[in-house]
Amino acid sequence: MESYETRQLIEEAMNELAQQTGIFGTNNEETHQEICSSAKEILKTTDKIIKSYIRVSTERDGILRIPAYRVQHNNISGFYKGGIRYSEYVNEEEVENLAILMTLKNSLYRLPFGGAKGGVHINPRAFSEKELNQISRKYVQRFARDLGPNHDIPAPDLGTNERTMDWMVGEYKTIHPGKSYHGSFTGKSIENGGALGRREATGIGTFLSYTRLIDTWLNQEHKEQPKRLNQWETLQNLYNHSDQQISVAIQGFGNVGSIIALQAYQYTKRKHPVIAISDRATTLYHPNGLNIERLIEYTEVHHDLPNSSEQLKTLGIEAEILPAKAVLTIETDVLFLAAVEDQIIKDNMEDVSAKILVEGANAPISLEADQYFERQGKIVIPDILANAGGVIVSYLEWKQSLTTERYSKEDIHREMSEQMIPTLSNVYNHYFSTNEDTLRFTCFTVSLRRLTDLLYRHGKLY
Ligand code: NAD
Repeated sequence: MESYETRQLIEEAMNELAQQTGIFGTNNEETHQEICSSAKEILKTTDKIIKSYIRVSTERDGILRIPAYRVQHNNISGFYKGGIRYSEYVNEEEVENLAILMTLKNSLYRLPFGGAKGGVHINPRAFSEKELNQISRKYVQRFARDLGPNHDIPAPDLGTNERTMDWMVGEYKTIHPGKSYHGSFTGKSIENGGALGRREATGIGTFLSYTRLIDTWLNQEHKEQPKRLNQWETLQNLYNHSDQQISVAIQGFGNVGSIIALQAYQYTKRKHPVIAISDRATTLYHPNGLNIERLIEYTEVHHDLPNSSEQLKTLGIEAEILPAKAVLTIETDVLFLAAVEDQIIKDNMEDVSAKILVEGANAPISLEADQYFERQGKIVIPDILANAGGVIVSYLEWKQSLTTERYSKEDIHREMSEQMIPTLSNVYNHYFSTNEDTLRFTCFTVSLRRLTDLLYRHGKLY
């Protein structure tokens, strides 16, 4: 989903809120319309876009000037918060879109954060450790005035990790001697104040967003006849499969995708064979399911998935090797997208067989494809609902930095689930009891309603 599509959906969701009178503490129709139209304009625009060039001396290409961005979309619900990605596809529009999605995600989960995002236009694999260290430190130098534990708090994203955050905190501390710095970045190493279990959080949370839909919610929570009969039927058909199994395919086998795969592989309530996984180069497929534990052990050492029959044989894994994109259209019940943006668009949406699609990555499905799936009776669990586990744990890490207490890994994952479940239940309940557009639209209206309320209460809408 691209930034103009995100804005289009904000526009439509705000128009929907404009029709629901009495929700912002006023029964005056004129005031209500003013609140909605003023909030719409604020939330469709971005507070601040900063672009800079990082100058770095490299062994291979000499001196490079690399574009770098920090985008702060909105902070009405708290300090700006959002990851920094290193990727050769980074551009201003992409970073801005991801910043808007962060505002919406943090508001949906009622976290005390607004939305921001950062990016550096490099392929991190093409740089040495020393060069990456220089780039990371210079990023902080360039944006130092706009960052800080009580202003804008970055975290890792695609192509960055705890090592990057440790370097960045180190540089932040050097630039601001004597100032508080522990909460200036999240996703740091444990030794440097990071939260236990942060790396697994997004994958665990994404799988939870799916199990709450299919399992707990379907069986126990919904008492009334739902309005979405097609989607309801899809869930029931999956649940009543004659072989008592729900097949899963996953695009991306990094921090998020590998943990989703492990969650599915180890899920005990209902068998979820992981029949296909992919990374940027390869899809591995076996109709009876892949041995995920062994594949994780392999990628921990080799980074990429095995992609030759010799490698698979040595590992003792039976699988067919297919092109990377094959994972998207393989015959499966559920498809988790945990790689990059814009993976399912108009050109390939009709070839997707999965009945439930879950966005572990940000913006992998276009708006048009999302609406097409809705008409098909499929269910798309959108990014801002599904992949919030990471930012919830970032919040716990930030909170931990303010005290001397340390959360255990169990505490972290329990708190994360406890924060996610009420929102998941609320959104699913709302979705199945109305006939509004898509599940993404439901998430947008819930999130925007809170943001509008805060803007109004803070006196920003006059
Ligand atoms: P990662 O770098 O650990 O893994 C990315 C995976 O995607 C790898 O297997 C890689 O080979 C694959 N990939 C990369 N480019 C691809 C392409 N063009 N086509 C197909 N596969 C490709 O990253 P991650 O931390 O697992 O994040 C994955 C996605 O989830 C990103 O979009 C990120 O923004 C989003 N996300 C991550 C977190 C988090 O906590 N890590 C939180 C929220 C959202």
